[in-house]
Amino acid sequence: MFSFNSRQSDRDVRMRGFTERRRVAAAVAWIDGSIPTSASESIPLDDAAGRRLASSITSAVDVPGFARSMMDGFALRAADLEKASSDEPVTLRIVGDAFPGVPYVGPLKSGEAVRIMTGAPMAQDADAVVPVEQVQMQGNSISIEASTPVGKHVGLPGEDVTAGMMVLAAGRCLRPQDVGLLASIGLNRVDVLCRPIVHLITTGNELLAMGNQPREFHVTDSNTPMLEALIRRDGGCVTQAGIVPDDPKKILTALQADAQIVIVSGGSSVGLEDHVPQLIAEHGELAIHGIAMRPSSPTGIGKLGTKLVFLLPGNPVSCLCGYDFFAGRAIRQLAGRTADWPYPSHRLPLREALTSSAGRVDYVRVKIVNGQVEKVVPQGGSALYSSVCADGFVVIAEDEETLPADAPVTVYLYDSVR
Ligand code: AMP
Ligand code: MG
Repeated sequence: MFSFNSRQSDRDVRMRGFTERRRVAAAVAWIDGSIPTSASESIPLDDAAGRRLASSITSAVDVPGFARSMMDGFALRAADLEKASSDEPVTLRIVGDAFPGVPYVGPLKSGEAVRIMTGAPMAQDADAVVPVEQVQMQGNSISIEASTPVGKHVGLPGEDVTAGMMVLAAGRCLRPQDVGLLASIGLNRVDVLCRPIVHLITTGNELLAMGNQPREFHVTDSNTPMLEALIRRDGGCVTQAGIVPDDPKKILTALQADAQIVIVSGGSSVGLEDHVPQLIAEHGELAIHGIAMRPSSPTGIGKLGTKLVFLLPGNPVSCLCGYDFFAGRAIRQLAGRTADWPYPSHRLPLREALTSSAGRVDYVRVKIVNGQVEKVVPQGGSALYSSVCADGFVVIAEDEETLPADAPVTVYLYDSVR
């Protein structure tokens, strides 16, 4: 099964370079056409906020299930108050109390009232509630100086939700109030879309694990924690191979993980130690390798069995950009989200012109200064600090070469909460 041949195959682009680069749109189309259907799982309702509903939910019950008082006051027959006025107040006899969960037992006769608390079941034959502030207490009676319409301050059965009503649609990202509502119709578990399992493989002989200061010719791995955070943000569940050396056998072993998506950081380009594209081509399908964009041009996308595989360049900004354009798009869709970036966007004018090459998409990190968009420097794929300083990014489309100063551009902001 292994073939780490010494003879270079025609498909092996190592040290030959990319002869052609695919368009970003072609890569996106391939991804969108390759998303498998998402599996679902039943989970406790109290863990369900933020998850996506796998199927629509219809209520089997009315909420509320009974007529109830919406005020602290007195339940009575509205007809008794028909002639009530300040000149001729109506007096009613208090015959008992109704509390939430503890109704007044027995029918209410004309001339009677029940002291009732908010949420208590309406007394039988009572059809209105007068709030406590609108009555005068006189021993065991009340007097009221105004009429009241039937149904006033009475919550009716099914007023919030009626039996048979579809309350939440499939695909809904459950809000805190949604899980509250699902509890109110009697559920304690809910079917949600599974979080896609994303296996992260970080390659590079030069890498030191997190927690080490860079020394000699080593580089401390910044991509693993960055990708983990991105994957979680997009609804994925991360498993990890950790740092794997640039050894094709070890990388192939790591690629066998049980996951829906595999992301490999590093080794995606055309250097001698860039084994991953060749491995995917040999053992699966390398659908895309080399994309007309900057940074992140040496990105690869393919399949290994049923797994979608994303080969992201090791340079941290390239890795971030490749994730956002491609891997994140797949994860979000598999998690039942929209394919779009989760970044808020604004239209703002450019302070200075931005230039790009025709036929290439550019991902330009920018700052917003006094309401104008300014490119951060340096823009290189390895300068991670520049993306830390940036407020967001601008995408220069393939067919755009120069965006002139003052032109309005769409800025995607890294922070959704400020
Ligand atoms: P590669 O994509 O493997 O050719 O790596 C390109 C550049 O990114 C090299 O300078 C690597 O040292 C650097 N690099 C690769 N992986 C990482 C990583 N996980 N964290 C930080 N830098 C990396
Ligand atoms: Mg490398």
